[in-house]
Amino acid sequence: MLSNYHIHTARCHHATGTEEEYVLRAIERGLKTIGFSDHTPYFYDGDYVSPAKMSISEMPDYFNTLLYLRKKYKEEIDIKIGFETEYFPKFFDRLIEEYRKFPLDYVILGQHIVGNESTDDMINSFLPTSEGKYLTRFVDQCTEALETGRFTYFAHPDCFNFVPKGREDEELAEFEYERLIRAAMRTETPIEINLCGVRCGRYYPNPRFWKIAGKLGAKTVIGCDAHAPEQVADSGEIKIAMRLVNDNSLNLIEDFPLKNPCI
Ligand SMILES: [Zn+2]
Ligand SMILES: [Zn+2]
Repeated sequence: MLSNYHIHTARCHHATGTEEEYVLRAIERGLKTIGFSDHTPYFYDGDYVSPAKMSISEMPDYFNTLLYLRKKYKEEIDIKIGFETEYFPKFFDRLIEEYRKFPLDYVILGQHIVGNESTDDMINSFLPTSEGKYLTRFVDQCTEALETGRFTYFAHPDCFNFVPKGREDEELAEFEYERLIRAAMRTETPIEINLCGVRCGRYYPNPRFWKIAGKLGAKTVIGCDAHAPEQVADSGEIKIAMRLVNDNSLNLIEDFPLKNPCI
């Protein structure tokens, strides 16, 4: 692994370590480029505060800290600054406006919530459900997100926790996963095998999803999703991901263009 674009900071309230510790670990493990992509701040309805994301007021410090480290370690490693961002249609344009004030290199799509966070329509993508219509909503919303052309890659595209109850549900899952993968391919957005899912023994990476991705030849990246410095490029986790790559003949890439989310 020579690059990784999925690293968090303590500002999201569920990651540990300093930014510099992540950088030093990446250098030690031979990475040439890293991108920080902490859980994005957002403007919400009312006085809602997200429990798992930084706040808008923390953005200047996020950028200042990373710009300082970029300069300090420029001989050893290239540091990019990004966010892991949900697509919340109600608030998205306002967010892009805010992004324009900062030297942001890229954003990755991570749709942990369907609907709009802080409003009545929100559904947690991680809670198990057998409601097919919710999976369809997830795929619709992610497709709309991909079609904005603002996302550099699609983090854990298989994170919607749909639990099929029978053959019909299984067919629906396959249909929706294929629809989602095709949307990523159409918009030239690589999809991510997420190492946090591997590390935590979660329901993703979802074998059913990756089998289809292999068949379709979708561009695939491996994302550390590091929430602690030692999780940057962990060789044991990468080995497990590589098994998935090899078993499904996935089209693994390491080089891809960063899309400027503000254009
Ligand atoms: Zn996180
Ligand atoms: Zn995520």
